[in-house]
Amino acid sequence: MDRGFLFGDGVYEVFPAYNRKIIGLDSHLNRLQDGLDAISIKNPHTNNEWKDLINKIISFDPNNQNQAIYLQISRGSDENRKHTYGELKPTVYIQSSAINPREKSTLLNGLSAITREDIRWLKSNTKATSLLANTLYAQEAKNNDAEETILYRDGIVTEASSSNVFIVKSNCIYTHPKGPNILPGITREKVIECAKINNFNVEESSFTKEQLMNADEVWISSSTREIIPITIIDGIQISDGFAGPIWSEVYDQYQSLKS
Ligand code: PMP
Repeated sequence: MDRGFLFGDGVYEVFPAYNRKIIGLDSHLNRLQDGLDAISIKNPHTNNEWKDLINKIISFDPNNQNQAIYLQISRGSDENRKHTYGELKPTVYIQSSAINPREKSTLLNGLSAITREDIRWLKSNTKATSLLANTLYAQEAKNNDAEETILYRDGIVTEASSSNVFIVKSNCIYTHPKGPNILPGITREKVIECAKINNFNVEESSFTKEQLMNADEVWISSSTREIIPITIIDGIQISDGFAGPIWSEVYDQYQSLKS
């Protein structure tokens, strides 16, 4: 009778931990709180309690691998299945799995993506566990031997099935602004910080699918995949077909967050 199972009624977070250090721990916890507030679930723990729990899970791994900590909070179990809810005790589920982001040397030719119309709901900024649209988009990418499905709404690129999207044009980096159309990725935030440290211009403004196809560089970002260059979209080569120089610098800067 857990509403997480019955309705996908819950929120989740994924914390990337390198050598037991989490990149953007506070940002992830803030986004978790925003998600709980958005769907009116009372946070069952304080941030310090979450940190203790997460660090405990991380410390269980005797091999000290890099880990993705997945944390889900559902609204909880009810006596019977009904759409509406009353006061319930949230269910907390946490797991750890190893992450092995790709080596830079394997990314120099970039990876491929497909595009699809973004038909998701207009609360995509909430990291909800109900991910049916996203999983179907991810499967379509897999069926097309692609890394990701990049989404567009009314001709504007929003994000991808499980990552944010960046383009570079004339040395300026663009990514869709925060709002109801995209998940405010923590890696997105870190990419912007890393780009600014390297003195690149970053515009959090939207761009069209046409601009995507004509970009000098295209990247996707997520906690478990980091920053991946995309050089083929819908079978068409982007720019010269190689990962770009700005990606390379931002990628290196991001790596320094791990130590
Ligand atoms: N957009 C969507 C739809 C996602 O599911 C994710 C996370 N998997 C992201 C963006 C990237 O978020 P983050 O950088 O916090 O992992």
